[in-house]
Amino acid sequence: MTTRSIRLAPLALLLATTAPALAGPPETPPDRPLRKPAGLRVEPAGTLREYLDAVTANWLLPGPKANPAILAMFADRDRQPYRDLLPWSGEFAGKFLTGAATVYQSTRDPVLRKSLQEYVKALLPLQDADGYFGPFPKDHRLTGQTPNIQGKPGPTWDAWGHYHMMLGLMTWDEAVGDADALAAAVRIADLLCDKFLGEKTPRLVDTGSTEMNLAPAHALVLLHEKTGNPKYLALAKQIVDEFAATGPDGKPLAGDYDRRGRAGDEFFQTPKPRWESLHPMQALAALGRVENDAERRKAYANLWWSIAKLDRHNNGGFSSGEQAQGDPYHTGAIETCCTIAWLALSVDMLKQSGDPVVADELELSTINSGLGMWSPSGRWSTYNTPMDGVRQANFHEIVFQSRPGSPELNCCSVNAARGLGLVSQWALLADDASGALMLNWYGAGKLAGRLKGGALARFDVETDYPRSGRVVVKVGLDKPTTFPLALRIPQWSTATKLTVAGAVRADVKPASYHVIDREWKPGDTIELELDMSPRVWAGEKGASGRSSLYVGPVLLTYDASLNDNGPDDPEPIDARSVRVLPATEAKGRFKPIVLAEAKAADGKTVKLCDFATAGADGSRYRTWLRVDHATPTPFSREHSFRTGPPAE
Ligand SMILES: [Zn+2]
Repeated sequence: MTTRSIRLAPLALLLATTAPALAGPPETPPDRPLRKPAGLRVEPAGTLREYLDAVTANWLLPGPKANPAILAMFADRDRQPYRDLLPWSGEFAGKFLTGAATVYQSTRDPVLRKSLQEYVKALLPLQDADGYFGPFPKDHRLTGQTPNIQGKPGPTWDAWGHYHMMLGLMTWDEAVGDADALAAAVRIADLLCDKFLGEKTPRLVDTGSTEMNLAPAHALVLLHEKTGNPKYLALAKQIVDEFAATGPDGKPLAGDYDRRGRAGDEFFQTPKPRWESLHPMQALAALGRVENDAERRKAYANLWWSIAKLDRHNNGGFSSGEQAQGDPYHTGAIETCCTIAWLALSVDMLKQSGDPVVADELELSTINSGLGMWSPSGRWSTYNTPMDGVRQANFHEIVFQSRPGSPELNCCSVNAARGLGLVSQWALLADDASGALMLNWYGAGKLAGRLKGGALARFDVETDYPRSGRVVVKVGLDKPTTFPLALRIPQWSTATKLTVAGAVRADVKPASYHVIDREWKPGDTIELELDMSPRVWAGEKGASGRSSLYVGPVLLTYDASLNDNGPDDPEPIDARSVRVLPATEAKGRFKPIVLAEAKAADGKTVKLCDFATAGADGSRYRTWLRVDHATPTPFSREHSFRTGPPAE
């Protein structure tokens, strides 16, 4: 049912006049499941490392001590008068642990490890004997209602909180090996099975807030994979069946993701298009993998492509006003939690499909919105990271979530670190079918993973990418070893140069993995030169008459503070004149990751910078610009190589 879409932009019109025209759409293979290689190590250097270290020092280490209610809300859950909670208060502890543990997987920072060990040691005793691990009073556990929500009786996202707790505990166990943490996740799953598995009343779907409360389906499949316990799989499948439940009035109670996904319906038109739905949807990919179920995988892929096509913005952020709207130009808030969920969804999609275009999406979202949702200081993150506008700390913008003992806790502050840490989950993957290692992330640093035969392959990446497109990879091995290494060639890199151990490689195509199957010798060097020619996404709908400019994966952004505090909206920019400058030429407190300049229609030179650092000092920034000579190139949904899964 899937068809390869036609590439609409004739390549002769590409801005980069030096780029040779392609003969046709790049070849992309059908589903090629990928997994994390054994012995995986991802140690970023460069810009990503600066962010990881800043977020560790200024948020992950002081966060729990500055906001002790993150744990205290569990300790005194039955003490009267009850704490005044939010429906989602129970998510904070688990979300924080998931984010921090993924950051730890990237940095192996011993200080962070010690801090998280103390956090988990204080957290685990707060689980009740029956497995309950939420903040709500005894009579209201997992019922969907409690008397103490924002000063009155209200709904609870209690099962959702337990989902995040399970995910946090399992991620921490993966990071350091903590049997106690895994056992706590098992006790949560056992409680959910006791309460909901089989013909029970109420069903989980009857507890309401179903975009959230059905999310345990995802964690239960993961726990089944770790433990082999069939009842976790059984409950996961039962919950997935409940996705299609309807009420007495015949209206959907939940998102109906499986059925609507299989039918190829757009995600924004499904019954529950809020962002939280992405987490229960991850159960479809997990079941598709565990049960080798092509229909579940198809449902997942269709939903993923629908969001990529219609609801992923130019900065890689997902959501408009906390949900899908079917319009990438919609100016509703692009919530941090939504983009984090999109990144998590996309990691699973990359592993399911082995499609390098999905890795392009992960890179786009990470380098632009993923970094941009953070102050470069690492001290605060945003609730909204808009395409045009300003950045505000979530502590301020959604201050209604602040409580005594947790002034800085909200859904986004506890979640934002995960986007940076997630790079470790897709940077280097393995393809069991071919025995290949797949190199996806081109930031500076070190990566390592074991080959099928057990040998450890190490990759030292030296580069200032994405400031330039030059990436040098040194291969480290104990002895000469034959294996296929697959390099992601981004869909936007139309003229890629690649040299392996001094020999030029032919046939390096965009939107593909370029596979190098040879005997590798210790110290062999790969020199990759990605095509960083400036590119254009010509806007439509609300962005009609405006365009976004990119170099490589970086969204170029106009920031008045880089332009002598000039106008908010510069005169039209000549797209042909964009050139990247050394970032050291920037004025101001925050050094841009990428600095560029271009000529404007009034003859002035306009400075542009990467989206991530634009507006870091509170100045207004803009990504939808008036641009002359704007010829559409990839990343626009209308002008991507593909806007759907590859042909089967
Ligand atoms: Zn949030």
